[in-house]
Amino acid sequence: MQVIGVIGAGQMGAGIAQVSAQAGYRVLLSDVDQARAEAGRDGIAKGLTKLVAKGKIEQAAVDAALARIEPVTSTDAMVKCDLVIEAATEREEIKRRIFESVGKVLSGTAILASNTSSIPITRLAQAAPDAARFIGVHFFNPVPVMGLIELIRGLATSDATVAAVEAYGKTLGKEIVQANDAPGFIVNRVLMPMLNEACFALGEGVASIRDIDAACRLGLNHPMGPLTLADFIGLDTCLEITRVLFTGTGDPKFRPAPLLVKYVEAGWLGRKTGRGFYDYSGAEPVPTR
Ligand code: NAD
Repeated sequence: MQVIGVIGAGQMGAGIAQVSAQAGYRVLLSDVDQARAEAGRDGIAKGLTKLVAKGKIEQAAVDAALARIEPVTSTDAMVKCDLVIEAATEREEIKRRIFESVGKVLSGTAILASNTSSIPITRLAQAAPDAARFIGVHFFNPVPVMGLIELIRGLATSDATVAAVEAYGKTLGKEIVQANDAPGFIVNRVLMPMLNEACFALGEGVASIRDIDAACRLGLNHPMGPLTLADFIGLDTCLEITRVLFTGTGDPKFRPAPLLVKYVEAGWLGRKTGRGFYDYSGAEPVPTR
């Protein structure tokens, strides 16, 4: 594998582009338009520059990684890719449209992968040109820091596809786990009910944002509280995943908390919009309730 396409230059896509470029791959990065693709690359440059200032990485390595990332206007450019990873907004119709359009230009050996947090891989594969060369490759946020990739095999995913993407993931220095194509895979199946329950607890007035987070951080020895983590992931993403768990299993224990729905409807999506359960406009996040 030499050329990796990344579709969606948001938090995850930019992270995947960065770690791939740092591992020596050439990366084509696209988003809805050229400006957003370039903004993704600029964000990577900013993050890497901070690491240079801290002495964690050499400027020459940063320059080399950035030179390997090419923002592109459309998915037509992905014709050269060996592996295309879709990391666009967690909405099935968006992802299906992407697979249909990039599928038209992909080579007959290229692998198409989705970084979806929760949408069934077997179902998404129906929009891909070849379900045998379609796979879920689930990175964690922030991609350069988190050491795990979940590989999700659809019903038709071939052994060769799994082996090729596992080999790619290992070259990034990540630990690979394999999950079956069940709602939420492993990590979100376990995590999202906790984040959703924290939203129920806040909505029902059990405790304040600060106290719910402090209780879980110190009482469970978690590195951050559930509301901080939900803000970090993006509340829209959390809601979409919870809805997939709810509809995918039919189990009412996964129903989304009304307060989570309200925050998303208000456009308070967490860190990425400057406000979620915390307000991020100052030097330190401030709880909003
Ligand atoms: P994000 O909102 O930061 O980025 C999504 C990007 O997709 C945006 O830049 C948007 O402009 C772009 N986009 C939307 N429609 C597009 C299209 N048609 N073509 C190209 N680009 C398009 O979201 P994110 O957090 O980076 O999440 C992206 C994917 O990664 C989702 O599937 C999400 O479930 C998954 N994921 C997220 C996390 C997390 O913690 N945030 C973790 C693992 C996986």
